[in-house]
Amino acid sequence: MDKIKRRVTRPVRVGGITIGGDAPVTIQSMTTTRTENYSATLAQIEALHEAGADLVRVAVPDQGAAAILKKLAANSPVPLVADIHFDIRLAYLALDNGAAKIRINPGNLGGRAKLTELARKAAGYRVPLRVGVNAGSLEKKLLEKHGGPTAAALVESALGYLEALEEIGFGDVVVSLKASDVRTTISAYRLFSEKKSYPLHLGVTGAGPAEAGSIKGAVGIGALLADGIGDTVRVSLTASPLEEVRVARHILQALDLRTFGPDLISCPTCGRCEVELVPLVNEVEKMLEAYSMPVKVAVMGCAVNGPGEAREAEVGICAGRKKGILFRRGRVVRTVEQDRLLEALKEELDLLAARENDGA
Ligand code: SF4
Repeated sequence: MDKIKRRVTRPVRVGGITIGGDAPVTIQSMTTTRTENYSATLAQIEALHEAGADLVRVAVPDQGAAAILKKLAANSPVPLVADIHFDIRLAYLALDNGAAKIRINPGNLGGRAKLTELARKAAGYRVPLRVGVNAGSLEKKLLEKHGGPTAAALVESALGYLEALEEIGFGDVVVSLKASDVRTTISAYRLFSEKKSYPLHLGVTGAGPAEAGSIKGAVGIGALLADGIGDTVRVSLTASPLEEVRVARHILQALDLRTFGPDLISCPTCGRCEVELVPLVNEVEKMLEAYSMPVKVAVMGCAVNGPGEAREAEVGICAGRKKGILFRRGRVVRTVEQDRLLEALKEELDLLAARENDGA
């Protein structure tokens, strides 16, 4: 299958990483600790980095948070984005204190004059801005004109702010156009990407708790990424931010935009399955965490159809009541006692890992 052809956007540097251009789609999340609690916030930033976040956003709701940013930025393993609302002075402090990007919603920051004032200061630090337009805070006149927070209204709002920034020659901008409605979000990003080449931060805001939010995020973000739209993603969940990163990784890996390790294929089971497949799949999923090579691994519920149904897997197992089978690319390698299946799969994975390490 051909790779997704990504839309070309202008690259923006955020600390040591690039968003846009031909850089890989980055993953971000946001801390949930009180930012001024230095040790808790740094611990969460480190955990997010460990989980795979490329950059992390922290809330800067007051001067205490803005002050602690200096120490956090100095010790963070990833670039930090300062999330600012309502008070532009906090954005100035965040710039002074090492924020690698400033996320603002111009709708609540005092309009275009404040935005250009901030951009001038950010330019001095070579720090980009994320212009985050949100359906919940659109200008009244746009809501009246478009009859509500429509995709066209979101795009018109963003274009207005971008025009102000372009007038002063400021182009280090990442744009987001978020709504909690998935179809509005998709339409807004599609519409915007026909008009401008700024890198895009994708997300469905207020998506909900872990399961429903992951699905909304996967549908919204996934549809756009499949169109080649999007340069950085945040899956917004009412759950641990680590879960946001985990889901974002799955979305990117499902679209073959990035790989983070083995891809587990498992069958839904049916009346032919003679074992409890769910616990076996869970055990394999856990086992795969130890490997980093990008291989497809299958766990199937019967030997009759399993190897054929998972032909694309480099290696796989099919469970049986007493005996299972081990297969490679759809071809049976050997029969294995059911209680030794996991062990046999691990041996195969270790062989693949050794070959990967040898560059074979
Ligand atoms: S692999 Fe076997 S058990 Fe699994 S869905 Fe296919 S036929 Fe059913």
